This record gives sequence, structure tokens and C-alpha cells, in this order.
Amino acid sequence: MKLKKLFKEIFRPLSQLKHFVRRKYLGMTRTEYKFLRSAFARLRYVELHEDGKIAMPYLETYLTRGCNLKCDYCSHHNPFRSGVEPQEVLLHSFEEWGKRLKPEKFALLGGEPLLHPNFAELVLAARKHFPDSVISITTNGLLLPKISGEALESFNRADRIVFLVSDHLGTPQFKEMLDRQVKRFKPLDGVSLTIEPFFKRWKTLHLHNENGEAIPANSDPKTAFRHCHSNLCRNILGDKLSFCSVLTNTACAYNEGAIRKEWKIALSHKPMTLTNTQEEIFAYIEERVQPVCSMCPGHLKSVEPKQLSLEEVRRIKKAA
Ligand code: SF4
Ligand code: SF4
Repeated sequence: MKLKKLFKEIFRPLSQLKHFVRRKYLGMTRTEYKFLRSAFARLRYVELHEDGKIAMPYLETYLTRGCNLKCDYCSHHNPFRSGVEPQEVLLHSFEEWGKRLKPEKFALLGGEPLLHPNFAELVLAARKHFPDSVISITTNGLLLPKISGEALESFNRADRIVFLVSDHLGTPQFKEMLDRQVKRFKPLDGVSLTIEPFFKRWKTLHLHNENGEAIPANSDPKTAFRHCHSNLCRNILGDKLSFCSVLTNTACAYNEGAIRKEWKIALSHKPMTLTNTQEEIFAYIEERVQPVCSMCPGHLKSVEPKQLSLEEVRRIKKAA
């Protein structure tokens, strides 16, 4: 018995060390790493429920194509896209996929989601159609002061609404503004605000050529998938359920002529649609890798925060 206890005392710290090393390697905070680990554990248990819905840990959609920042490492090509997804497309998507999927967390992304003119209605619609999910909004935070008191109150009543701010600027002024927003959200029980300081750990999913244009990697799909930080991010948009948001955005950006022709590879992947059966969708959600993952690099590169100038955006778009 004593020996067993001693064994545990020696090996428990070693197992913690293993997680520490992995976390450092991935460049994640403790919370993110824990979330990723539990999400992986739960992904193995994607379930087809008796009510006919598929329970899964995580699902995403995006509300806007464009962004008010132009990060040169943006994995979703948003600096080269513009506009928003039509409200009716999003509402249809929430309603139909909400009848079939039950994610633990349903994330609304962009571009910058707060740029959508119907942002508040869309958050409340997501709550209505995904009643069991935490609704999270990933934002760069610049437009947080524009959320009206009335909208904030309605999110609070809707309950389990989470704002996650990715700090891509890191300036003292921006931090001050975020601190004011944290105070504004603090008294609320149903809605929360978390700031992610992305510096030093932001990694890009793109390779760039000598002209600064993003290009596909042509790597081993399994290796790319293993290193990918979006490999749990199943995505819905309109009638389609896609393997990840990067893929959806890349296919759309290619169709808009916003990115280089090599990205046509994104169209080789066929997403699920509402006409597929629950069994087919279940199997798709559980899949671990797709041939199209070869477009992403086998090793992620850490990047420094950098915004593209409008001239650079124009030049890169013109070269597409
Ligand atoms: S804030 Fe996010 S979506 Fe916008 S350009 Fe930067 S990385 Fe892309
Ligand atoms: S295509 Fe595969 S590797 Fe690339 S972002 Fe999507 S899941 Fe990750």
C-alpha cells in the first residue's frame, strides 16, 4: 500500500510535467489547454441522442466576412474579404441546424462579428435555436463600447452568453478600453467577458510567399491536422456543415476572387448539407482528418502582431 502511494507521489508530478511541456509547446494558456483537452476527450463521445440530435462539444459559424482589423496572419483571409452574411441565411442556418445539432458551445465568429448590423438579434436567435449551448462570441473587442445597455441587458436575460476578446493590438489605450468593458460586464450574471492576450502565442495557419501573399502548404494532411488549432471547429453556414471555419472561409474567399488561385484546393472538400442523414453527419463530425488538410502547414509558426496597411491589402488582392 505504501509502495503504491509512493509510486503515485512520484508519477503524478511527472504526468503534470507532461501536460506543462505540451501546453508550452502549443503556446496556450492553462485555461485554453484544459478546454482543448476536455474538448478532445468529449469529441470521442460525440453522441446521437434519443431526441435525434447530435451532441458535440463545439460548433462555429461566422456572421461577417470582413473585419475592422487587417492582421497579416489572419487564417480566415478576412483582411481580403468584406461585407456580412445575410441575416436570413444565418437565421435559416441556426433554425435548421439547431434541430439537428446540440453543441456544448456554439461560437459566433467573423471577420469581426460585432460589425453585423443585426448582431444583437443574431445572438438572441442563436440562444433560441441552441437552447442547451453556451453561446460564445469571438471578437477583437474594438466595438465592445458600441454594444448598447439595452442589448447587454437582453444578453444577460438570455443567459450563458460569453464574449471572448482576442487582443491583436496590445496597446495601453486598447487595454484601458478593455478594462472599462470588463467593469461594465462584471455585475452581470448571464453574460461574461474574457480577454485573451494573444501576443507571443499567436500562431498562423498560413505560409506566405516572398510577396507576403498567403499560399497553401501542401503538407501531410495528418501532420497538419494534428498541429491545427482549428481541428475541432466544425462550422455551419446556410445549408452547409463544414469540417472547419478555415475551410469555409477559404472556399468563400476563393469564390469571391479575393485570394490566390492555388486556394482552389479548398473547393475539393465537400461539406455535409441538410439533405444528409443524421448518421452521415455524425460520422463526418467524428472524422479526424480530411485530404484537404494538406493546405495547412505541418508546423505552426509563432507570429508577431502586425497589421497590414490598406495599400498592402490592395496589392495582395490585386495579385490574386
Ligand atoms: S481580428 Fe481576427 S478576424 Fe480580424 S483580421 Fe485579425 S485575425 Fe482576422
Ligand atoms: S483544413 Fe484541416 S488542418 Fe486546415 S484548418 Fe481545417 S481542420 Fe485544420
